[in-house]
Amino acid sequence: MNNNSEYSIETKCIQAGWQPKNGEPRVLPIYQSTTYKYETSDEMGKLFDLEAEGYFYTRLQNPTNDMVAAKICELEGGVAAMLTSSGQAANYYAVFNICEAGDHVVLSSTVYGGTFNLLTVTMKKMGIECTIVDPDSDEETLHKAFQDNTKCVVAESIANPALVVLDFEKFVNAAHAHGVPLIVDNTFATPINCRPFEYGVDIVTHSTTKYMDGHAMCVGGAIVDSGNFDWTKHGDKFHGLTAPDDSYHGVTYTEKFGRKAYITKATVQLMRDLGSIPSPMNSFLLNIGLETLHLRVPRHCENALKVAAWLEQNDKVAWVNYPGLKGNKYYELAQKYMPNGTCGVISFGLKGGRDVSVDFMDHLKLAAIVTHVADARTCVLHPASHTHRQMNDEQLIEAGVQPDLIRFSVGIENADDIIADIEQALAHI
Ligand SMILES: *Cc1c(COP(=O)(O)O)cnc(C)c1O
Repeated sequence: MNNNSEYSIETKCIQAGWQPKNGEPRVLPIYQSTTYKYETSDEMGKLFDLEAEGYFYTRLQNPTNDMVAAKICELEGGVAAMLTSSGQAANYYAVFNICEAGDHVVLSSTVYGGTFNLLTVTMKKMGIECTIVDPDSDEETLHKAFQDNTKCVVAESIANPALVVLDFEKFVNAAHAHGVPLIVDNTFATPINCRPFEYGVDIVTHSTTKYMDGHAMCVGGAIVDSGNFDWTKHGDKFHGLTAPDDSYHGVTYTEKFGRKAYITKATVQLMRDLGSIPSPMNSFLLNIGLETLHLRVPRHCENALKVAAWLEQNDKVAWVNYPGLKGNKYYELAQKYMPNGTCGVISFGLKGGRDVSVDFMDHLKLAAIVTHVADARTCVLHPASHTHRQMNDEQLIEAGVQPDLIRFSVGIENADDIIADIEQALAHI
């Protein structure tokens, strides 16, 4: 899988993953097949026993999906990766792979609304409890959030939509001091701007729906394992990985698969039983998006910085939040962990509050109101009315989302056209 690891990230965007042999298609083929044929019953039996590697049913593994997972794995610098049908499924599997009823998770308060709901409502019904921490809290407060039954910490490298940049060092130290892995959702930064494994993060998740796809074509997700967390050292906590799995003929994942134990378990157990696979067609499209990720992400950042700087100078604008702006609360952290840029998403509020923000959005022409973020086309959303609608004002503030917050996802059009659109919409209010 890692035969290209000496290449730079730009080359990996193009070349990693599919490696055609003599006479095979140059472009990653779409293996649009649920099943795979074998000559003998015994050969297929070995696959079921995990005694041989190979494909037998697309719910477990599919070559198109695997080649794209391999590319994302190389971009993040991990040892193993898998794709899921959505970012939600990725975060669900990433946590559920090491947690069960009676366990506990430390969760950053500013994570994406969908992740917050998944953990605090749906997984709570499954018997998994959360303690929510402010990502800016000091180390001592962070340590107090841990319990004996804590199994992981969940945070985002750049929070959607609060744009809080994670203090990786503080979170890694806290998680490791308590013998648990840190899971970071790296959707907004992408591996082009930030590779969390370089700072000690153990597991990375993605909603590939956003910049990785980049064209708003396919919902998808990915989980990547650094291979660095020592599950056996904390075997009492992670018996699902370190003790025999009766549902797989007594295999012990850490013994049999070593640094690939976590992704193997998530594939053969969670994907087998829960089935959130992407379609091979969607993975094919995702791969096309990944080929230009290294070109698009810097342009998103350059445009976002221009738009943010323009907004900051405008009298109708109450506040602007973009971690790439000097003077932003997270500017220093962003310089430390993502010096080449943060993301193309900015947030701001207008003088006059919530109603004025909504009115402004209705007058935009180029920037479209869509429930999406982080694609090539500029788009805009009002989280309090849309993605975070289920939260009350108190929860909104805790999630770093002011009621007047406009989430503005700057695309890769000409920045002057984007600014002109904002200017004409502001003239109406
Ligand atoms: C969108 C998003 C998700 C959810 O991903 P889907 O692909 O929509 O299921 C999770 N985390 C972050 C940071 C996101 O932006």
